[in-house]
This record gives sequence, C-alpha cells and structure tokens, in this order.
Amino acid sequence: MNTPTLYVVATPIGNLQDMSPRAVETLQQVDLIAAEDTRHSAPLMQHFAITTPMMAVHDHNERQRSEAIVERLQQGQSIALISDAGTPLISDPGYHLVTAVREAGFRVVPIAGPSALIAALSVAGVATDKFTFMGFLPAKSSHRCQVLESIMANTHTHIFYESPHRIVDSVADMLKVFGPERHLVIARELTKTFETVNSGRIDDMQAWLLADSNQQRGEFVLMVAGASEPEAEAMDAETDKLLQALLEELPIKKAAALAAKLTPHKKKALYDRALQLQGKDVPR
Ligand code: SAM
Repeated sequence: MNTPTLYVVATPIGNLQDMSPRAVETLQQVDLIAAEDTRHSAPLMQHFAITTPMMAVHDHNERQRSEAIVERLQQGQSIALISDAGTPLISDPGYHLVTAVREAGFRVVPIAGPSALIAALSVAGVATDKFTFMGFLPAKSSHRCQVLESIMANTHTHIFYESPHRIVDSVADMLKVFGPERHLVIARELTKTFETVNSGRIDDMQAWLLADSNQQRGEFVLMVAGASEPEAEAMDAETDKLLQALLEELPIKKAAALAAKLTPHKKKALYDRALQLQGKDVPR
C-alpha cells in the first residue's frame, strides 16, 4: 500500500466463499473502506476479521465524498470501494468517485470478483459473443415497454437486473413487446441456497413464474435472446417500407418523426435511413 491507490473491490453476491483472498487482504490493509451501506457490510467485515474504518459512499453523497477521498489520497492514504454485493459501479455507486480519482491522477486498481451479470451469463446458455447490459428496467410499465421496443430488433443478447417486486410485471411486458417465442432465461438467487436458472419461450417462462410464488422471490437476472438475423432484417424491411410510404407524402424530417412514433427506432436513425433511401449522403 505504498502508492496511494483506490482499490475497487468486488464482494460476494451471496456465497461468502466467493470472497477472494486478495479482496480480504486489500480490505484489511487499506486506510479506509468506502462502502455503499456500512451497516449492510458490517457482517462481511466481521466474517473476514476486517477492522478497517468504513465511510458511507452512496448515490446521495458520492460527489461530495469523492472530494474527501481525493484529499485522503493526496495525504498518502489508500482507500477501498465496495458496494452491498458484487462489483461496484455495476448498477451500483462508484462512477463519480472513480472518475474523480482518475482525474486527480491517482491509481485505480480493480480487485476482480463476483458480478451477478457475468455469473448469470456464464450459465444461461445464451449467445455471449455480443451482449448488452441494460441494468434495471424503468418502474413504470409504459417506460419499460418503450425501452423494450427500442431493442426489439437488436440481435444482441440483452441482460437486465430485476427485483422481486417487479419480476412478474417485467416478464409480462417482455411477452407483450417481444411476443411469446423469444428465448428468456431467468437466473434467481445465484450462488445462494435457492439458486434457480430456468429458460424457455417467454410465454412458458411466464406460466412457470406465475405457477409458483416461490420463484418470484429473491434477486433476478433476466436474459433475453436477441432477434434472429431474419427477424431483424424483416423488421428493417418493414421500416423501410413504412419510411418509403411516408416519404412519398411528407418532407424527410416529418417522415422520420412520424416513423419514430410508429416503430421502435430513434428519429435520428430513421432520418439517416430516409436519406439513404433517397440516395443522399448521411452526414457523419
Ligand atoms: N453490483 C452488483 C453486481 O455486480 O452484480 C449488482 C448490484 S444491483 C444494485 C443488485 C441487483 O443485481 C439485484 O436486484 C439483482 O437483479 C442482481 N443480483 C445481485 N445478486 C444476485 C444474485 N445472487 N442472483 C441473481 N441476481 C442478483
């Protein structure tokens, strides 16, 4: 710990045996642990005999605490950042702190370890060559459907975090937007006693979820297969047809705006596509 450093330390997502020896050693040796919730992390500290002082750094005070942490680094101290579980910054606080520390010119070192996203993906049996992590879906169904519609034609696997309060509603909206046949994987309580990973068509997964309220408890990662190439192409062909029809009646800007209301695609993307359809250059 000679060079003042911010260590970003991953902690278990359920099973304490996933804590790495390097994580324990780092947390024991730093001068201060910046923790999302000090009370939540207290049992973990106790379990691994870590007595380092902790400071709360969460969504509501992160900017202000970042300044204090940079000052400590300037004094030659080393600090560790942890979140309640898994890897900090992944749907967790830490982005402002890491940015501030890097901008101040100090080292930021990852102590790699668990993350629900990667654990889920590693056992799901879905394509992992291209995936998009979406974090938590919006709470409101209309916003949720908008987000889902915006990715409907994308061929990547999409990964979402979900809570027990919204799992049923989110799966219902996925069924509404993607239709019954799209492949869905539900990973629940990973590395814990009731770990369950189940997959199938969205309608079958919804029926399975509704049939047993126990399957609605705990922490979830949802993984939705991307659209197949023909599906994506068909959607593009349909969008082109719509754009062509609109362009016959309307100026390009209005045609793109109207198509954005009628399809999951963004206005800018539709505007560029309309330019292409008219044989014009797309500005870069
Ligand atoms: N930073 C964490 C990580 O690296 O995975 C994620 C923090 S985010 C606030 C918490 C969400 O992660 C939960 O609501 C759930 O969607 C997912 N999650 C965390 N632990 C999990 C587990 N053991 N099994 C399934 N999902 C989990």
